[in-house]
Amino acid sequence: MRLLMWLVFLAVWVVASAETGKFWHISDLHLDPNYTVSQDPLRVCPSAGTQMVYNPGPWGDYLCDSPWALVNSSVYAMKEIEPNPDFIFWTGDDTPHVPDEKLGEAAVLEIVERLTSLIREAFPDTKVYAAMGNHDFHPKNQFPVHSNNIYHQVAELWRPWLNNESVNLFKEGAFYSELLPDPSSPGRIVVLNTNLYYSNNQLTADLADPSQQFQWLDSVLTNASHAGEKVYIIGHVPPGFFEKTRKKAWFRDGFNKEYLKMVQKHHHVIAGQFFGHHHTDSFRMFYDDAGAPISAMFLAPGVSPWKTTLVGVVNGANNPGIRLFEYDRATLNLHDMRTYFLNLSQANAQDNPHWELEYRLTEAYGVPDASVRSMQAIATSIAGDQDKLQRYYVYNSVSYDTTACGETCRTEFLCATQEVDFDAYDTCLRHTNASPRLRGLLVLLALLLGLRALLAP
Ligand SMILES: [Zn+2]
Ligand SMILES: [Zn+2]
Repeated sequence: MRLLMWLVFLAVWVVASAETGKFWHISDLHLDPNYTVSQDPLRVCPSAGTQMVYNPGPWGDYLCDSPWALVNSSVYAMKEIEPNPDFIFWTGDDTPHVPDEKLGEAAVLEIVERLTSLIREAFPDTKVYAAMGNHDFHPKNQFPVHSNNIYHQVAELWRPWLNNESVNLFKEGAFYSELLPDPSSPGRIVVLNTNLYYSNNQLTADLADPSQQFQWLDSVLTNASHAGEKVYIIGHVPPGFFEKTRKKAWFRDGFNKEYLKMVQKHHHVIAGQFFGHHHTDSFRMFYDDAGAPISAMFLAPGVSPWKTTLVGVVNGANNPGIRLFEYDRATLNLHDMRTYFLNLSQANAQDNPHWELEYRLTEAYGVPDASVRSMQAIATSIAGDQDKLQRYYVYNSVSYDTTACGETCRTEFLCATQEVDFDAYDTCLRHTNASPRLRGLLVLLALLLGLRALLAP
């Protein structure tokens, strides 16, 4: 009898572990090829601009983009921690934050090629789904709606990861979609070129649907629904607002609305959204018209520690981070997310790049998984619990900024997390203490408590 129970247990365990897969998400590596450990504070890295960089270390500096040593170390840390992921998401921004004149098309392509080769060298047999970042073009941000030499060259660089149809599509607009490599999986990946929606892109300012990407996305998701597939969407520039300042959105208003409409229409097939660009660790909630949570977007921290020069952001650097997801291969439901990081100042002091676990989502927030319901529970808990908010704030900079998140910070973090829509975000800011959704819940709670008091003997 006991043997039979053990066999049943073993069978359940084998089935469960066969269905659980892992994948990496890395973003914003921003290699600065000219980083050098110089004693001259103006010669350390072009990405610091005119800022003085004192005491730079071999693994990088918070004022600079990544030296090769850091980029290399991050990819080999992935290999050491989980050498056999099902696939890798790589959401772009490979080049340093320097003026266009200091780069040029050839330099941009050379950097994309160096990073592509590094990832292929470390993970020769792993499928990589890669998206272009706004820094992966020359001139930066100016992504065209038609085929061009850069789309063409990048498609050729990434050919080992793509099927022929994707290569051809990528050459036209830098977006594509493919089924997961496992033939038994109902999973599909959609890689978007959201640089077309970025407000800094002058080429798409007056267009309704640049490269007809929305029309294409609509049909891909409709077909996926008919075929019984589940979809992960990845891209670089995300919709919604930056949480570290006020009213800083990346998409143009019309594109933001259109993206939201897509998620609302197709949320039944969207099992997750994975973006970069912020360099911070954050997430976004999406709701239907009745206010029910329907989807979550995970924003991966950057490998580059570069302190942003964006107006209004105070001390916007981060420790380098990489991220591993656990998911159900049969449903694409997300089980958990682990963020690993390099404490850069410590690594430099000890000359030892020790990547360690920063946190595990389920453990840190006391949720059962990384589902939409759990992410909504986290959103609600950080709005109502100062300790949880502080935790979210420290993780946001990958444990770089440990100062207290005060009232202004709280408003900006909560509104950005919960309101991707421009108008809803504005309304949230005006009602500083909480977003309309949270206030709705509080009103309901107050009503229920009042009712209980009335009914009490
Ligand atoms: Zn970036
Ligand atoms: Zn970017």
